[in-house]
Amino acid sequence: MTDLHAKPQLTTIEVRNPADGFIVGEVPVDSPETVAAKARELRLFQPEWEAMGAKGRKPWLMRFQEWILDNAEHITDIVQSETGKPRTEASTEAPASADSLNYWARNAERFLAEKRSMPHTPLMLVKRLTTVHRPYPLVGMIAPWNFPFAMAGMDVPPALAAGAAVLLKPSEVTPLSGVEFVRGWTEIGAPSVLGVATGAGGTGAAVLANVDYVQFTGSTATGRKVAVGCAERLIPYSLELGGKDPAIVLTDADLDRAVNGITWGGVFNSGQACVGVERVYVEAPVYDEFVARLTDKVASLRQGQDDDRYRFDVGAMATEAQRDLVARHVDEAVAAGARVTTGGKPTGVGTFFEPTVLTDVDHSMAVMQQETFGPTLPVVKVADEDEAIQLANDSNYGLSATVWTRDYARGERIARRLDAGGVNINDMMTNLFSFALPMAGWKNSGVGYRNGGAHGLLKYCRPQAITTPRLPVQSNEVMWYPYSRRKSRLAMGIMRAAAAHGLRRVGLKPRGGSR
Ligand code: NAD
Repeated sequence: MTDLHAKPQLTTIEVRNPADGFIVGEVPVDSPETVAAKARELRLFQPEWEAMGAKGRKPWLMRFQEWILDNAEHITDIVQSETGKPRTEASTEAPASADSLNYWARNAERFLAEKRSMPHTPLMLVKRLTTVHRPYPLVGMIAPWNFPFAMAGMDVPPALAAGAAVLLKPSEVTPLSGVEFVRGWTEIGAPSVLGVATGAGGTGAAVLANVDYVQFTGSTATGRKVAVGCAERLIPYSLELGGKDPAIVLTDADLDRAVNGITWGGVFNSGQACVGVERVYVEAPVYDEFVARLTDKVASLRQGQDDDRYRFDVGAMATEAQRDLVARHVDEAVAAGARVTTGGKPTGVGTFFEPTVLTDVDHSMAVMQQETFGPTLPVVKVADEDEAIQLANDSNYGLSATVWTRDYARGERIARRLDAGGVNINDMMTNLFSFALPMAGWKNSGVGYRNGGAHGLLKYCRPQAITTPRLPVQSNEVMWYPYSRRKSRLAMGIMRAAAAHGLRRVGLKPRGGSR
């Protein structure tokens, strides 16, 4: 029977520029069947891609990097059209992606190198022990809307470099950049190991159902669903989720640098950055001065719909829902006693929300506890660094944090007491763009992590152990099996001798005492 109340299934998604609401493109909503077919096709090409080895794959990744650099202006146009970012922000996405391709392409061979292991016991000396890293054949990349090209550009390269095929699922809010990313790969004539599936959560769930590993970036709420889905299929995943990053300003800070850095950290991408500043704790002696200077700086920012002339500092929010959420956090804080020193409301045009500084906030407010993801900087006065650390750690999130001080040793000491996967001293987001370092979300900010040198690539691989005889083998002998009393005694004797004499060369160290 037909359900007359059922919502009609959308077959396409209209993509709008949130700055003015104009439609800038359209993509299909891929059904589960379409996603499954795309996944099957990618699997056909993956074995050959893997067999090429890191050396064989490198030229394709480098050629793709060149394509991105050659097409940077065009890519920036697309990012800007579907996000409402100012030019200066949109133009960071192509170079960030090129940088990532360069790093993974150049280091993949070293990271994937096979490893020979020393046997742990003399009994194993007759074998050659090798670990090789074999990719998960198909990796699903499920991405958010805040950096629509760069998210693909940061996460897809290590998986391709590892030898996996990748099915990218960009956000339904900003799918055009992801589609363009994959089109670029096709345009250079690269092997068909990168595909794109467009649509909303249903399409994301279908990707999860058809891949061998999920790399998910998005909200904590969706991340939980992805974890459950992966658990049901018994496939591994990495979750890069939301944040509520604190900034700690100490009395000895270079206040100009702290104000500039925190302003940028708070309003960059209209505050829609997982590693943006969401809370500020300032030591009492410099609190008034910091708030005054921060207010002036934030009030001086130019906000509007940009073209290609780099005229504005702050752009639109990605969606009306996101703008309304920011407005709710600010309104609730004000109703509970917070004071707005600049900004505080939607501009009334498109999805723009004024860059905002709030004071007199406390930790019971949503603006201090939940991810606001808007251009808001709530500032709290603290007595000393201990109070700053205690409040900074009073959060369900633990993505990253910043400390502003002239005393770097003190900054590092504080970093080691903060519950966050990354701490940047006197700067913003540095760990995210240092691919040799992990970008790890603690607590509700993630499971697993991206980057971190070899880890960033090996997470897309399964280790495989291969053992090979080093000496001629007899047809009736099996390793370890005590097929005669004599051999059994011999084996026990060797073990005792190894334990007693601590055969360091074979990995048997004596427990206590000297050798
Ligand atoms: P979201 O969770 O709403 O959506 C993310 C992606 O998941 C989208 O592609 C969406 O279509 C898909 N999806 C939705 N339901 C799904 C399901 N049931 N199964 C599979 N996929 C599903 O997140 P968003 O609003 O697009 O992005 C903003 C969030 O992303 C913020 O919380 C931000 O902090 C976070 N983020 C984190 C990082 C990081 O590295 N930690 C980076 C960027 C953004």
